[in-house]
Amino acid sequence: MTTLFKHSFCLVLLSGIQAAAFAQEVNIPPNTEALFSKLAADPSVKQALDFLKKDDANTLAEQKALVMIPSPTFKEQKRAEDFLGRLKKAGLDEVRMDSVSNVCGVLHGTGKGPKLLLSAHLDTVFPEGTDLTIKEKDGKLYAPGIADDARGLAAMLSVVRALKASRIKTVGDVWFCGTVGEEGLGDLKGIKQVFRDHKDIDGYIALESPTVPNEEISYQAAGSNRYRITYKGPGGHSYQAFGLPSAIHALGRAIAGISDLQVPKTPKTTFTVGTISGGTSVNSIAAEATMDLDMRSNDNAELQKLETQALQIAKDAAVAENKRWNSDKLRVEITQVGARPGGSPSPDSTVVHALWLSVKAIGGTPKLAGARSTEANLPISLGIPAAVVGAGGYSQGIHSKEEWFDPANAYLGPSKALLAILGLAGVDGVSAPLLQKRSPRQ
Ligand SMILES: [Zn+2]
Repeated sequence: MTTLFKHSFCLVLLSGIQAAAFAQEVNIPPNTEALFSKLAADPSVKQALDFLKKDDANTLAEQKALVMIPSPTFKEQKRAEDFLGRLKKAGLDEVRMDSVSNVCGVLHGTGKGPKLLLSAHLDTVFPEGTDLTIKEKDGKLYAPGIADDARGLAAMLSVVRALKASRIKTVGDVWFCGTVGEEGLGDLKGIKQVFRDHKDIDGYIALESPTVPNEEISYQAAGSNRYRITYKGPGGHSYQAFGLPSAIHALGRAIAGISDLQVPKTPKTTFTVGTISGGTSVNSIAAEATMDLDMRSNDNAELQKLETQALQIAKDAAVAENKRWNSDKLRVEITQVGARPGGSPSPDSTVVHALWLSVKAIGGTPKLAGARSTEANLPISLGIPAAVVGAGGYSQGIHSKEEWFDPANAYLGPSKALLAILGLAGVDGVSAPLLQKRSPRQ
């Protein structure tokens, strides 16, 4: 509560830079710090970390093999089948493909512990036919999707192997999923299904392409709602049929209204009409006109408020255009084409604390990052402790054909994930789980 108050207070009063610095605070309880020191000193944990270092080349080879299997959103089947085999080989139990082609498996704990989930996404933004040949230059690997999220998938496999090889027994169950439909119009289809199938997940970590080497922890989620809004009218000759309502004029009224909407800076809330189309010729009253509207916010209530206002404006525009011409012939169709929930929880969650101390344990400097739009959006919107971390190495050019991955010390990614898993799920005979069991969702 105190922290929340401090943050909102500072964000209102201080400049952006100061506010960002202030928001870097985490308040880690001393017993959590002590737990991580104990974990880092444990011989079997050290063994697991050694394993990860030795497994680095193997992990990179797997990352290369995965990226070469085309996996555009909605067409992930081949990569999913391949990944299923790899999860089994790595030693997970109950490895299965679900109804939407997510592939999940579990490492069972000793029982009665919390349930932790890690995921990395199988899909890429690159369409079928994209050249996925890996080119190596100056120690970097170039290929579309090499980091986002082939790295997350490969890091996950390495973590599983390390846990199996070191025979560490966690207290809680740890689920690992390769998920479909993370990108674009996939609209988080895969992770939504995982949370529908598992109502009792207590904590979550997304393994994503690393944008800053082993440091950033993103704990806020920018939610987005997207709509396609189409006006349809009778259409007609611009001169002879003058007096009929126009779909384009209605669209213009709507865009003018939406453009004037006021939204808060904090929580960051945004809107844009991203595309428009309509009409057939300069001398026709347009029979049809369409816009795609994107609205985002780090806060679900603000997103809802914005959505209600914008959609009302869209409806009112049709009414106003009809009224202007004393007509009832123009109508509006509103279709939701995207829904990614978001949230702005406090950084003081067990998952953020565990990742923070894990980054420190591998010699990194942890930092809190701004909101992202990832699979963590879903658990964050459900109030489940969740965060996103880079899966090791360094990358740039994500979502472009120039995407590259620098594998230097990439094993530190899985090392960080492994330590966080052990802290959160607990280690039998060493440490109790940090993660609290929640009551299952309905
Ligand atoms: Zn990604």
